[in-house]
Amino acid sequence: MKLEIDQRRLLSEIEALAAISDAEPPAVTRIVFTPTDLKARAWIIARCEEAGLAVRQDAIGNIFARWVGTAAAAPAVGTGSHIDAIPNAGKYDGVVGVLGGLEAIRALRRSGFRPRTSIELLVFATEEPTRFGIGCLGSRLLSGTLSAEAAAILKDRDGQSVEEVRRKAGLSGSLQYVKLPAMYYKGFIELHIEQGPLLERAQTPLGIVKSIAAPASLRIAIEGAGGHAGGVLMPDRKDALCAAAELILAIETAARSNGAADTVATVGICEVFPGAVNSIPSRVDMTLDIRDTDLARRDSARQSIERASQSISAKRQVSIQWELVNADAPTECAPEVREALADSCRRHGFQFLEMVSRAYHDSLFISRIAPTGTLFIPCRNGYSHRPDEYAAPEDIARGALVLAESLRKLSS
Ligand SMILES: [Zn+2]
Repeated sequence: MKLEIDQRRLLSEIEALAAISDAEPPAVTRIVFTPTDLKARAWIIARCEEAGLAVRQDAIGNIFARWVGTAAAAPAVGTGSHIDAIPNAGKYDGVVGVLGGLEAIRALRRSGFRPRTSIELLVFATEEPTRFGIGCLGSRLLSGTLSAEAAAILKDRDGQSVEEVRRKAGLSGSLQYVKLPAMYYKGFIELHIEQGPLLERAQTPLGIVKSIAAPASLRIAIEGAGGHAGGVLMPDRKDALCAAAELILAIETAARSNGAADTVATVGICEVFPGAVNSIPSRVDMTLDIRDTDLARRDSARQSIERASQSISAKRQVSIQWELVNADAPTECAPEVREALADSCRRHGFQFLEMVSRAYHDSLFISRIAPTGTLFIPCRNGYSHRPDEYAAPEDIARGALVLAESLRKLSS
């Protein structure tokens, strides 16, 4: 039988999941392991069981829903994404990959296909960094990128550790066993909205990711000297905010002069102490997010920022402390998975663009342990992480169809 996506059902499921939220519609807020998130997780598990999949959860709450193949012991073909959402987000980030993946599996079943290797839907736990300050916690543990010990002690804003929170959420077992064995997956595909404007601009319905840019993320603390805004004369000042201003511009210059469009650097948080109109800033805490598809290039930009920081510190007599939060390596997507995606597009007569993923997803970490690919669909104006995030029904269905076709290819 023909491979066909049930677009109406898929869209109604996206709406149903969006309604499980802590924000007023159309906004979606689903912070991991809150009662709302637990309700959404139970809802997903019920949909997977309804589809006849064998469901299990690991100790961090990654959900695995498996369609067992005829070669049940062979490495599986995986697909999936996440359902947690940052405050005031949209309906599609992550969800398209989870519900699109589920519908792809159902479509394959309806078509009469029997997979040789098992096909597994994976719903990654705690992809967004909202609660524990680090993104992709579930896939970092699955891939061994983060150790169980380091994960267990991460804390949320209320001081509750990952260990406490997951236990309260009913997840038992040890985090030690979350890491997947070698050759668990023979291939993995994440379907995701682009979260950028390129597909829409190119009027191309699908994007096959070649490489994924990865961020290094740092905290910077600048300590100067405070004082009365009237009393301390300019030559005597060690104004931490003036030093921060100079450093922020040096960061921009380092990213711009790196000679590559793929180098991007952002200072997204800048907190000034004590924060009073008539008080000289004594301290500034800021963050730096620096990304590239090329690790050496990203490191060289970081080094030039650090050199600038040393000279600003000496000139302004302030101390500048750097703390590395994480530095993930960028990745190239697996040729065999890219080829399966491209073949599937051609087979259905869909145009596609080969592109760089500038946001990163769980697939970045899964790529450390399995041949991995990412398939993008357009989203309006490139908007994401906001309530007006939107992907057109036909684009979602097209993505799910190409995903299904590719899963068929890889699991045959
Ligand atoms: Zn996402």
